[in-house]
Amino acid sequence: MIVDSHTHLGVFPLFNVKLDVNEMLEIMKKHKIEKSVVFSLPNELTLQAVEKYPQKIIGFIWLNPHKKDSVQLLEKAVTKWNFKGIKMHPLIDSFLPDQPITHPIMEKAEKYRIPVLFHCGHPPWSLPWHFKNLADSFPNVNIILGHMGHGHIVYINGAIEVAKKCDNIFLETSGMPMHSKIKEAVLTVGEERVLYGSDMPFGHPAFEIKKVETAGLSEHQLELVLGLNAKKLLQI
Ligand SMILES: [Zn+2]
Repeated sequence: MIVDSHTHLGVFPLFNVKLDVNEMLEIMKKHKIEKSVVFSLPNELTLQAVEKYPQKIIGFIWLNPHKKDSVQLLEKAVTKWNFKGIKMHPLIDSFLPDQPITHPIMEKAEKYRIPVLFHCGHPPWSLPWHFKNLADSFPNVNIILGHMGHGHIVYINGAIEVAKKCDNIFLETSGMPMHSKIKEAVLTVGEERVLYGSDMPFGHPAFEIKKVETAGLSEHQLELVLGLNAKKLLQI
């Protein structure tokens, strides 16, 4: 079973890519992906996809903690829209993960027992070490570091380092170029705390799945990373 823990729908002129839900389902079918976690702006794009394909699309609510209605929006997403998690992007929305501004959202994540995925790997806002402080402040909230440090070896090592220290930090593999670091994360952080993601449409399952398969994991570890870990984390 493959679960893609990181995807987007929409049109992105800066990156010259776009993806609608039907195109996503085609890609999922081709690569035997059972379910995809989607977070998009506006959030209504995610909602429409979840409503249309509730068996295939898992919704995460994209929140900007600077916005006054973010907690209200989160409550609606969980109780009315059946969303399963939260996405925040410190780089785009200019906040540090461990600043008090995130706390009201983290408190609700704890209440609803849902994970929070953060973009991780760009200075100054989304470096791995800030997530350790956050994880220590909210030990009952599962935090996913999207891209596990992204393209910079110092940040990738930093993401592995903080996940080693915090049981509630998970690492998601999209956009991180080194297959060898997936194996290292599985061996040192734990086989149950690494999640496959593609970052569609910025990345693609064709090579993101291959990257995980190339990492040299055991058959069981591969099954965990490609899908079973996400299934357990999201309770799906
Ligand atoms: Zn992304």
